Amino acid sequence: MRLRNVPGAADMIAASPFSVCEPEEWKGRWREMFGNDRPIHIEIGMGKGKFLLTLAHKHPEINYIGIEKFSSVLVRAVEKTEEFEGDNLRLIRMDAENLEEVFEEGEVSRIYLNFSDPWPKERHAKRRLTSTRFYERYDHILAKDGQVIFKTDNRGLFDFSLEQTEEAGWKLLNHTFDLHNSEYAKENVMTEYETRFSKEGKPICRLVAYR
Ligand code: SAM
Repeated sequence: MRLRNVPGAADMIAASPFSVCEPEEWKGRWREMFGNDRPIHIEIGMGKGKFLLTLAHKHPEINYIGIEKFSSVLVRAVEKTEEFEGDNLRLIRMDAENLEEVFEEGEVSRIYLNFSDPWPKERHAKRRLTSTRFYERYDHILAKDGQVIFKTDNRGLFDFSLEQTEEAGWKLLNHTFDLHNSEYAKENVMTEYETRFSKEGKPICRLVAYR
């Protein structure tokens, strides 16, 4: 994602009723924050938020938390919430490296990773959100029957992710190299990147992992 400084982004995020500015304080208490016991699904690297807002609108029975590293990007998702009337969405500006400081063991039921940064240099492989290092974090915060659902147009990153899933000791519930022409197409919710890449004719890969 191209990063441009957006003046006032941090203030706009802080002023939003959907933002959680000190997420560590809610560790183990997210159900209290939402005021119910509904499952919590998170998206890491939510970008401008189209995917998560669509899901939050469609599924009021699920609580959604969007995580994004950069204020300049998250502020675009915050802008979109102006039209959103539900109470099942929260947004956090944070680096996913710190997930365990924000979520208690087993607190999350599903993790979405959409078009995660590929970090093409081998020396940066550990930063990929589907590396075994991140699977260890997910293992900690995910509930027993929790899932990681990962989509990408990047075949190299997808092949790496399939290998890492196995190396981390996780299993594949299913996977496809062409989501939009698969049996899963109907239920699929598009992200901003997905819309762009599929218009360019690129096939979208998806895996669903569990342990
Ligand atoms: N998910 C969106 C989509 O599909 O349209 C955005 C995809 S964009 C390529 C990846 C996003 O992940 C960027 O906004 C980036 O800032 C965010 N990101 C990358 N690494 C992250 C991390 N460690 N923690 C939180 N967000 C991260």
